Amino acid sequence: MIPYGRQHITQADIDAVVDVLQSDFLTQGPKVPAFERAVADRIGAKYAVAVNAGTSALHVACLALGLGPGDILWTSPITFVASANCALYCGARVDFVDIDPHTYTMCPKALEKKLEQAKKENRLPKIVVPVHLCGQSCNMKAIFDLSQKYGFKIIEDACHALGAEYKGSPVGNCRYSDITVFSFHPVKIITTGEGGMNTTNDADLASHMSRLCSHGITRDPDLMTHPPDGSWYYQQIDLGFNYRMTDIQAALGLSQLEKLDKFIARRRAIAKRYNQLLEKFPVITPWQDPDGVSAWHLYVIRLQLDKIRQTHQQVFVALREKGIGVNLHYIPVYQQPYYKQMNFHSGLCPQAEQYYSEAISIPIYPDLTEMQQNKIVTELQQTLKL
Ligand SMILES: *Cc1c(COP(=O)(O)O)cnc(C)c1O
Repeated sequence: MIPYGRQHITQADIDAVVDVLQSDFLTQGPKVPAFERAVADRIGAKYAVAVNAGTSALHVACLALGLGPGDILWTSPITFVASANCALYCGARVDFVDIDPHTYTMCPKALEKKLEQAKKENRLPKIVVPVHLCGQSCNMKAIFDLSQKYGFKIIEDACHALGAEYKGSPVGNCRYSDITVFSFHPVKIITTGEGGMNTTNDADLASHMSRLCSHGITRDPDLMTHPPDGSWYYQQIDLGFNYRMTDIQAALGLSQLEKLDKFIARRRAIAKRYNQLLEKFPVITPWQDPDGVSAWHLYVIRLQLDKIRQTHQQVFVALREKGIGVNLHYIPVYQQPYYKQMNFHSGLCPQAEQYYSEAISIPIYPDLTEMQQNKIVTELQQTLKL
């Protein structure tokens, strides 16, 4: 089976991990701060906080921004469930803003309309989480302008978008947000096995998030309720977690980060080639906003169902049977049973539901060969009986 995505691991990655295994620190050593610094510098953010997963990164980002019971977080329905679950972890509620039919990311017009309504009903969101689906940045300028008018915070879910650009600078520099979240799961742009990172330009947010990843404990005398009892002394001042990244993971991350440009170039070349090969197919290929440069985490096609005889499901099953590991990113989150019991109804986000009925992710990752790509296109052609 050709998977929809997979990691690329070199001997240098393996050596970096082995070096840590033979060193004094497997965790809480020098590699984690070095990886944080490298990511922050790479994307032009002041601070970066390494975490054990993108999901934990979302959780501590919400907590640091003060999300709690009585608050509401809005995100896109076309995302991984973690983008919404983070609100529930904090005891807050979630709601969803429909997607733009061309980019499949949060639609600023739909957001504005929903904000106007929410303002009248006095239920404005505290945080909005735009998701850079497939690696393409959302229209952050428009969303940021709305945040100024309506007073909400922004967490960019950039789990797909390390290495992407928006308006000429790297996604993650937080020019239009408070915090940006990355994931280093093996299918993502670079990997640490499991892992994540938050970036921000706010020193207090950074230290708060970092504290929340380590039990809410501080060793900074300035943050303590009284002077330290001694050099051993620390204080727990928040309820935190053990969400720390290990040095083993950070060493892998540092080594992977060196290949980021290569990974992105390869993904872009694959996408460009798909665009050409699929030009005459009854599918919609990914539209690209000229304001950004995608990291191409995913390549999603939409079937033009009025032009083919098969159903969406038939095409999906046929491709899987032919060894193409297609996938569907994503099921609208509010259609999950856990969310349905919170009284979300079908029809909430019509564009998202339409997208879900037509979308298929076809394989894209740095090691995908031209021969494999040809096979994918040929199998799709045969499946669609072209
Ligand atoms: C992968 C992903 C996450 C969660 O990241 P993990 O590292 O797997 O916890 C969150 N949001 C999106 C959009 C993702 O793709």
